[in-house]
Amino acid sequence: MAEQTGIPDNLETPENDLESCVICGDALDGIQETSCQMCGGKFHQPWSQDSDVPQCGRIGSHEDALAIVFLCDDCYFGRRP
Ligand SMILES: [Zn+2]
Ligand SMILES: [Zn+2]
Repeated sequence: MAEQTGIPDNLETPENDLESCVICGDALDGIQETSCQMCGGKFHQPWSQDSDVPQCGRIGSHEDALAIVFLCDDCYFGRRP
């Protein structure tokens, strides 16, 4: 008699709290991501050279704030109205 232990059926927990990239639409891992300064959308940003995360935005400089800002590809290339 095999004893049924209380293993839940839903081992694959839906990752509802993970957002998707506004550029490529793939899921973000919550770490290698950042949000766009202009549209506020989250996109992939690899923090290390050997990361396999795509870079879906660009680092730009904010002339007024004299700070480094992140822009998604759409905003960087002016594709967003
Ligand atoms: Zn992406
Ligand atoms: Zn943007």
